Amino acid sequence: MSSRPRISFHHTLAFRLTLWYAGIFSLTSCVAFLMFYLLFVSVIRDRVDRDLLEQEERFSSVLASQGMGALRNAAVIETQAAGERKIFFRLFSRSGQVFSSSNMSYWRDIDIGSEAVSQLAAGRRQVFDTIEVSGRKNEVRVLYSIIGPGVVLQLGQSMESSSRFIETFKDIFVITMVFLLALAAFIGWFMAKKALSGLEEVTHTAQRISRDALGERVPIKHRGHEIDLLATTFNRMLDRIENLVTGIKEMSENIAHDLKSPLTKLRGSAEVALTTDAPLEEYRIMAADTIEECDRLLDTINAMLVISRTEAGVGELQMEDLDAAEVVREACDLFQPLAEEGGVSLTCRVPHSCPFRGDVGMIQRMIANLVDNAVKYTPSGGAVDVAVKEENRNFVSLAVRDTGIGISQEDLPRIFERFYRSDPSRSQAGAGLGLSLARAVVRAHGGEIYVSSAPGKGSMFAVILPKTEQPSS
Ligand code: ADP
Repeated sequence: MSSRPRISFHHTLAFRLTLWYAGIFSLTSCVAFLMFYLLFVSVIRDRVDRDLLEQEERFSSVLASQGMGALRNAAVIETQAAGERKIFFRLFSRSGQVFSSSNMSYWRDIDIGSEAVSQLAAGRRQVFDTIEVSGRKNEVRVLYSIIGPGVVLQLGQSMESSSRFIETFKDIFVITMVFLLALAAFIGWFMAKKALSGLEEVTHTAQRISRDALGERVPIKHRGHEIDLLATTFNRMLDRIENLVTGIKEMSENIAHDLKSPLTKLRGSAEVALTTDAPLEEYRIMAADTIEECDRLLDTINAMLVISRTEAGVGELQMEDLDAAEVVREACDLFQPLAEEGGVSLTCRVPHSCPFRGDVGMIQRMIANLVDNAVKYTPSGGAVDVAVKEENRNFVSLAVRDTGIGISQEDLPRIFERFYRSDPSRSQAGAGLGLSLARAVVRAHGGEIYVSSAPGKGSMFAVILPKTEQPSS
């Protein structure tokens, strides 16, 4: 069964982006075409008007210099030369009486425009008019002008070239728009696919992960800030999930490995108690041993839970303002009797106050584990020194030094692992969880823990903690 949900093509983002792109592109092209068309039509009209005006000027100068007869001849020759279906003229008086005209058989539908004549009468020298002739596809541009005393010229020219242009333009427009639309759809689709290819990779990785490949990550390929950000965020989320899963796995392995033997031991002694006849006193001793072992197991389980939760970031830290100097002082007071008992001198160097923000319970456990180890692994006659100070405005540092047995170079990299205990320390009580817990707490506060040690000379655990809340990594 495929886990991939079925999405119809027209619901995909790529399709919608393509549609938007093609739509906007076509609209812009249409507007550009329209503007170009209007500009061109006005240019053609201006040209026709200029032609008419030039002719009118020629006619009026013939009239002025050679008289009406010469004008008639000149006008007839001019119209015949240009084509009687292209231009025509009429000469008439202000009252509308026609003196002369070109062959008007083709133009018989065009009369003298009374509106234009009245505009001339009102004082205008020239009037232009555009006439549509029924049954013909070309419009006619007409100029009325007073070219001499009492002589009005009506000069007409067919707008054939303009109509031809418009027809051609329309054909070009349709072909170009079809081509542009196809191009826009193709480019839009290409761009949408390219922009979304990063998303597809994230989706594919997510699909592979859902088929149990938690180690997979989305490659960061600089495909654009948003996609890279998504991939980085997705990878971070996966890191976190992987950490959680690994934590859970490790914990179950640890439980299986380290809790099994004490439980088997407990079960064994209970079985012995059941099957053998022993004096009451022996049963009491056995019960006391069982309680002790159970307490130890409970402590171990609790420590494991705290480590796992802290490392996984489950359960928020109870952050509050606290004084690191006071927490360290209290820890020293707590361990003073134990140190004295073991013949170890415990010194505590703290400033008057060292303000800091953290989870007091967690910080106490971390310091207690470090001091406990230092006292535990320092033989009688040795010394333990605990110091805390403000490093600068941003950090607080804690150092726990001892002159104890030290840690070998082979053990050093492993001591923070859960349940790891070096051979020389096996004689001491402990579960091997103290340092793992300390490191988990320090990291949850955004800090780091370091160790330096020399076997036989002693160890130093240094902790750096930011003073304000930091996001735990
Ligand atoms: P535990 O002390 O319960 O064994 P920890 O996690 O606290 O567990 O420490 C892990 C191991 O690191 C110890 O078993 C010990 O070998 C070593 N260790 C820790 N602190 C010291 C120290 N101050 N001096 C020498 N060895 C130490």
